Formats: sequence, C-alpha cells, structure tokens
Amino acid sequence: EDRIVIIGAGHAGVQLAASLREAGHRGPLTLISQESALPYQRPPLSKDFVAAYADAEPLALRPEDFYRGVDLVSGARAESIDRAARVIRLDDGTLLGYDRLVFATGARNRPLPCEGGELQGVLGLRTLQDAQSLQRRLNEARRVVVIGAGFIGLEFAAAARARGLEVTVLEFAQRPLGRAASEPLSSWFLQAHSDNGIDLRCGEGVRRIRQTGSGLEVDSAAGSYPADLVVYGIGVQPNSDLAEDCGLACENGILVDEALQTSDPRIFAIGDCASFPLAGKRVRLESVQNANDQARTLAHTLTGVPQAYAELPWFWSAQGEHRLQIAGLSTTGDEPVILGAPQTGKFSIALFREGMLVAVESVNKPADHIAARKLLGSGAPVTAAMVQASASLKDLLRN
Ligand code: FAD
Repeated sequence: EDRIVIIGAGHAGVQLAASLREAGHRGPLTLISQESALPYQRPPLSKDFVAAYADAEPLALRPEDFYRGVDLVSGARAESIDRAARVIRLDDGTLLGYDRLVFATGARNRPLPCEGGELQGVLGLRTLQDAQSLQRRLNEARRVVVIGAGFIGLEFAAAARARGLEVTVLEFAQRPLGRAASEPLSSWFLQAHSDNGIDLRCGEGVRRIRQTGSGLEVDSAAGSYPADLVVYGIGVQPNSDLAEDCGLACENGILVDEALQTSDPRIFAIGDCASFPLAGKRVRLESVQNANDQARTLAHTLTGVPQAYAELPWFWSAQGEHRLQIAGLSTTGDEPVILGAPQTGKFSIALFREGMLVAVESVNKPADHIAARKLLGSGAPVTAAMVQASASLKDLLRN
C-alpha cells in the first residue's frame, strides 16, 4: 500500500490531493492542517473579504464532500518527523506513518522588527483568523496605517479605502511593489493609489509603534501617524523549520530538484515553502499558480509518470478597481517597453533582458496577459523590435 501524507492544506496541499485522486492514486491519502477552518482560498483575504462588512464567509478551496475521499486531519500541527521509521508525530501525540511525504507548509508573515510590533491593534494578514480579526476591527476603525507597500499591503490599503477609511501606507524602499514589479509599474500604482486618496509614502521605514491614550501612533524617521489599526505586510518566510529539523536540505525554503523531490527520495515539497530550479536559477515563488501547477506536476510523478516542473510563472493582484496580471519573472535591470497608454488605465509593460522578452505586466488588459502567457510559454524568442512592430501582443501571436 502506498500511503501519501501531505503536510499543509493550503492551495498546494489541497490541489495535490485532488490531482492525486484524478491521476489514479487509490491508496490512503492524508492532509494535515494546523488551521481548523475548511481549507480556503487566501487571495480574497486582502481583497473582497476586507471590503465586505460583517461575517463574510471565506471561499472554500473544495466543497466539504471532497474530503470524503481524503483524510483531512484539521487543527493538528505536524511537529516532528522520523525519516528512518517514516513516521510523523502530531502535536497531540498521534503518530502517522507514510510511504511518501509532501511538504506543502506554505509561508508565514515576517514579524515586524520594530518596537511595538506586538501591541493590540497591530496585525499581519496571512490566515483566515487574521482576516477575521481585521474585519472586526475595521468596523470600528477610522484611520489605518499600513506598513509595507507590497501586494498584500496595497491590496488591503485599497480595500480599506473603499470602505471610506483614512489610509496611510509607509514603505521603507524608494518605490511600492519594488520586489516584484518594474519601475514604471511602481510609479503608475503610486499615482493611482495617491489619486484614490491613499497617503502612500516611500523611503519611510517604521521606527516604532506606540500606544497612545486614544489608539496607536506609528513613528517613522520623517513623522508620526496616528492609527486605530496598523496592518503590516513586509514579506514572508517559508515554513521550512520542520523539514530542517529532520535533516532535509533547506535554504530560503526546502530545497527540491526539478522533480520537486527533496534530499530524501521519499519526501517532496511544493508551493510557497519550496525552493526549486527554474531556468538555471533557484527560486521560491509565492503565488497560487505556482502552488497549483507544482501540485499537478507532482501528482503525475507520484502516480508513476515522472515529470519535471517547468511551468511559466504568472500572478495576479487586485488593487481597488485595478487588476494587475504578470506573466513571466522580471528582475531589476530588465528593459521596459510600454504598450498602450498608461493614462487610460489600460496598458502593459513588456520587459526585456539581453534583448529578449522575459515578462509582461498588464494593468486592466487581460487580453495582453493571455497573449503574453502564450508567447512566453511557447519559448519562441521575442525581441523588442518584434513587439514594437506589431499592433498588439495578440497580433504577434498570430505571426
Ligand atoms: P499556504 O496557502 O500558506 O498553505 C500552507 C498551509 O500549511 C497553512 O494552512 C499552514 O498553516 C499549514 N502548515 C504549515 N506548517 C504546518 C505543520 N507543521 N502542520 C500542519 N499544517 C501546517 N497569490 C496570487 O497568485 N494572487 C493573489 O492575488 C494572492 N493574494 C494573496 C493574498 C493574501 C492575503 C495572502 C496571504 C496570499 C496571497 N497570495 C496570492 C499568495 C498565495 O495565497 C500563496 O502563494 C498560496 O497560498 C501558497 O499556497 P501553499 O499551499 O504553498 O501555502
């Protein structure tokens, strides 16, 4: 009998369970989740869920009856692994044996490194529980300070603004979305959020948060900002401690090869917790696409049809009324070419490295995004001259 155990029932873990059953795995299949809610989708937590008022329901990843065919152990944390005996110990002392084990443990928020990070009313946003506490506090709050202008910080800021709150965003770096977006895209979003009434300040690291008589006060080098609620989104760290403790190779995530296998041939890792080789580099991606596609690929391998993971990364973010979609992976130094007119609010930015297209960022231009995924996914070389000579990315696809 082939017992497969998956630790973590987020996007990656649940997709893997579904894909394993579809691919014909008939043996025992266990999903261990340290959260007690029915496994749910994370992206809405910083978008529609914030914008909704009382008691919004999370969106389930799969309906409840899906778990009839999968053994879901909820509210249980995998605490240690004995690789020689192939046994997992849960926090309530239960022992679970496995033939093959998959880490789909995701990531957790980096804690705020400044004084006051632990005060009441200072919250991160990763889990349903976080989102529910935030939602309760949003009903009473008037002024919100967001620390970090990454995707989650800005999505939350826009959703809070839509509820009519006063929103200040403090970002340590010189531009918003600096880790994942090109410079022109950052500038456009800085303007869009400012036009929407969000006070977005870059180059302002937070020094400390203080409790005052009426609420909180956030101090940066440049000023002090009063708040009823402080939300931070300053990045995540992979949940790789358990893997490290049982001796698996880890470095910014659990190290896997192109088959998503760790340094132990019976153990695999997928999703936010996995560091994998892609186009000659080692990457760890934090996206639903990556979690789902790695799960699908691994399901083939685990059911006897080995596959290497090589899917094109893509990502989306909804910031207020603007939908951003990114195909491919860009890095600083890539050459941007603007397609369309940014002032209309619908445009794309094509990014080139050594003259070749590597990524496309699209704002409110879903057709460009779809074409970019096809173009980049085909592996055919696309130069800046080719893009500039054609009417649209879709047009280029036809030729
Ligand atoms: P997770 O979804 O984090 O699931 C891992 C699970 O494992 C968690 O439930 C965790 O508690 C559990 N776990 C960890 N350790 C243990 C243990 N020892 N025992 C038992 N259980 C354990 N991506 C996009 O592409 N687009 C978006 O718009 C977008 N928006 C987002 C908004 C928010 C607020 C957040 C937090 C993330 C967003 N993401 C978005 C990122 C996306 O949600 C993640 O990339 C995705 O959830 C990764 O899936 P995962 O299964 O690897 O990890």
